[in-house]
Amino acid sequence: MFRSIRYALAALLLVPAAAEARVDYAIDLTSPEHHLGQVSATFPVTSTPYLDVKMPAWRSGRYTILDLANGVRRFAATDAAGHVLPWEKVDKSTWRVHLSQPTAIRIGYELYANELGLRTRHIDDSHAFLDASAVFMYADPYRADDVSVALNVPRGWQSFSGLASPSPQHFVAANWDLLVDSPIETGIEKSYRFSEGGRDYEVVFWGDGNFDPNQVVADIRKIVPQASAIWSGYPFQRYVFMIHATDGAGGATEHRNSTVIQIPRWNFQPHDKYLGFLSTTAHEFIHTWNVKDYRNAAMVPYNYQSENYTDLLWLEEGSTEYFADPFLVRAGLMKPGEYFENLSRLIDRHRHKPGANEQSVAQASFDQWIAVGGDRANNAEVDIYDEGQIASWMLDVALLEQTGGRVSYRDVHEALYKRFGGLARGFTSADVRAILRELTGTSWDAWWARNVDSPAAVDFDALLAPVGLKLQAGPQVAWAGWSANASPNGMQLRSVERGSPAWNAGFVPDDIIVAIDGKRVTVDRFDAALAERKPGETVTIGYFRRDQLAEKRLTLGANPKDRPAVVQVERPTAAQRALFQRWLLIPYPKAP
Ligand SMILES: [Zn+2]
Repeated sequence: MFRSIRYALAALLLVPAAAEARVDYAIDLTSPEHHLGQVSATFPVTSTPYLDVKMPAWRSGRYTILDLANGVRRFAATDAAGHVLPWEKVDKSTWRVHLSQPTAIRIGYELYANELGLRTRHIDDSHAFLDASAVFMYADPYRADDVSVALNVPRGWQSFSGLASPSPQHFVAANWDLLVDSPIETGIEKSYRFSEGGRDYEVVFWGDGNFDPNQVVADIRKIVPQASAIWSGYPFQRYVFMIHATDGAGGATEHRNSTVIQIPRWNFQPHDKYLGFLSTTAHEFIHTWNVKDYRNAAMVPYNYQSENYTDLLWLEEGSTEYFADPFLVRAGLMKPGEYFENLSRLIDRHRHKPGANEQSVAQASFDQWIAVGGDRANNAEVDIYDEGQIASWMLDVALLEQTGGRVSYRDVHEALYKRFGGLARGFTSADVRAILRELTGTSWDAWWARNVDSPAAVDFDALLAPVGLKLQAGPQVAWAGWSANASPNGMQLRSVERGSPAWNAGFVPDDIIVAIDGKRVTVDRFDAALAERKPGETVTIGYFRRDQLAEKRLTLGANPKDRPAVVQVERPTAAQRALFQRWLLIPYPKAP
């Protein structure tokens, strides 16, 4: 269906004065209040009957279909002389511009950009964050050609990106793929610079919060040299940390030589929350190697129009997570005891995740595109972060043990960097197993089949003992097996663990618990009431389900009162101390 052009082609007037690259983009952000930008692009002289221009269906790092074409409005196209070109949409993400003769093509559209937490595109009166995969359309014939971006911004706005910037408000890239892997942050920002190891770093803050930017910058500066514990080189000369101190958004995304980290503005304190922020920072920085410089073959190059299926996301996310906290420990930002506490949280989550017996990390990687996530998924799924971290930990300890500390999991990633760095081609799980064989002289196929391609049976004692650590379990207390949120009407169940007393009694998420043995309860009160009961006791639970009051009998089970602690053994042997040193690259800590 051809569309008549009803809109004024104002956006088309915004193209740069002179062509600078094969494909030139411009975005006007001078009326940002309503989350709108005016985008234009010029493509080279094209002699085919039509040119398809596309918006990606997803952005790198977020393995979910996002249908980013959904922000495009008022699309229009002209030829080089400014004559209107007819166009039609041929699928949800593709605009087909028809040509009657060879000509350069200008397109223009209005972009609605009011999405913050997925880190795609956000324009408001204080800033704009532009992940180009959510902003700039591409055409397959010109995807490999050089591009330029010109920004027209409100007075006082400064623009930052990992891209080269020949002049203010102006960026260039060798091709569209580099552009979409280099988000642009523009607005009224605080920015800091430092050099470390001969490379340049920038830290850009959007928003205020309970942090001292100088402290944050000083701590990031301690993180970046830690990469040399794993890799023999750095795949960039310049790197930009973009920090959104905001509200209602948390999370982070890795890019080629930059990252965007979002954190609620008051979550830089207390100390454990700040450590979480630093751990995220290390995680994203590690991705500069693991994902951005070498990655699975299904995503080289990225196919931005549909799902890219791989069985290796666990290695890309989980292993990155596994490496992150040790960066902080070696940098002196996290105490070994704080790291052990994070391991104990990981162990606790695993033990209350029945899905770990259902889904392998390879399957979870493949199905990441449809992962539901969250507590409710725990009964059937695992997430590539937690279980991928555990699989990486298991592989690390197995390598250290088998080789007497000679080979660690870090060596696997250095080999991936050496062999697949630069993305000439991607790697498969067979490539990883080949590296394992080369490093150790033995086959890891059986290990892989057991722990990666099948749900792993994790023996945490066996992971901790070789490095002189152990699990210390607390006393057993009465346990229901649900998690809940306070709601104005009572306590609303968030999840019910499969096989738990609450599951067996028939409770489901969203049930609102209001009474135990005839007495009103809230979340706090329920915990107190539970503490007064013994495992094996039966209680009567009053609850609402879809506003219908009902009761159920619940026979309480037993569970450790606190999550099991990861602690040092009393008398570590010389072998345990030596393997600990190879595991974390710090000496075995003195007894706390
Ligand atoms: Zn990640």
